[in-house]
Amino acid sequence: MIIQKSATPRIATFDPQNFSFGDTFTDHMIICEYENGKWGDVKLIPYGPLPFTPAMMGLNYGQACFEGMKAYKDDEGEVFLFRPEKNFERINKSASRLAMPEVTEEMFLGGLKALVDMDREWIPQGVGTSLYIRPLIFATEEVLKARISNKYMFAIVATPAKSYYTEPVSVLISDFYSRAASGGVGSAKAAGNYAASFYPTQLANQQGYEQVIWTDDSTHEYFEESGTMNVFVRINDTIYTPPTSEKILDGVTRDSFIHLAKRRGIEVRIEPVSVKKVIEAQKDGSLKEVWGVGTAVVTSVFRALGYKGEKLELPTLPLEESFALSLQQDLVNIQNNKSEDPFGWRM
Ligand code: PMP
Repeated sequence: MIIQKSATPRIATFDPQNFSFGDTFTDHMIICEYENGKWGDVKLIPYGPLPFTPAMMGLNYGQACFEGMKAYKDDEGEVFLFRPEKNFERINKSASRLAMPEVTEEMFLGGLKALVDMDREWIPQGVGTSLYIRPLIFATEEVLKARISNKYMFAIVATPAKSYYTEPVSVLISDFYSRAASGGVGSAKAAGNYAASFYPTQLANQQGYEQVIWTDDSTHEYFEESGTMNVFVRINDTIYTPPTSEKILDGVTRDSFIHLAKRRGIEVRIEPVSVKKVIEAQKDGSLKEVWGVGTAVVTSVFRALGYKGEKLELPTLPLEESFALSLQQDLVNIQNNKSEDPFGWRM
């Protein structure tokens, strides 16, 4: 790895009590370029802009995918990554689906560790806070031809993240728009998936809903995901989540919740979740909780579901009664080294 330390670090000006998530970047970044069929040297360099032209293929034809993960700092100042091998596997699944070259473990895990180690002072301390890490791959060839690019860049940047705590939100069950198509790229973290989701989300926002519950593209009768999260439904004391497919992202948090729920002895059913079943359960009072899970906020609890003009209210349960919040706490405790690590998830 080629290491070039920043001559003008900004860490002294960083106030962990007062910063803005997502647009405050740490002092360094990883880059690695691909051409002539192979990846070059991994470079750890000062964070900053790179020169590109508007003819860059990634901007025109959308060969671009990314990951989202976090590093956590415990009370002793020790730093942990959470299941980073899952993100490594997933970025390569995304890359393959978009006909992009896979990255090596040395580039991905080696790059992550080097960047987090170099910029460890940027990681806020305290449960709920973390360093959000964004690895990405994008096509860089300068040519306007709709074909597979011959040049790429792999990069990793990082931004400090605040408390995961969020208020319960209202979500709109989509009966028209889809996030992912059958045979499409829904299971890839393709940049274009996010672009396609913004407009339907904007329409939902205009109707007073914070997020969209995405349903299947052919019938709109089955739940798939919620916003940029996987979705869980609790009916009585059983929790349900749809099986992953080429339309559903295989979320690390989803997989972790399934393990943690089973460990608590909760019945977990991984099966298609129909809108009809959820609405009937809301009407007869057996629907206890619906929530989204993802790296960013761990859990987003829903307080109402909108469907075809109707707003169905959900109970908001206290921590002791809530599966969503209890499982969130179990996970956060593992991530922050506040509990044992029964599945060996901390690195
Ligand atoms: N679905 C989508 C569409 C997402 O963007 C994310 C966030 N990566 C998730 C689910 C949750 O995945 P994870 O738990 O790995 O963050």
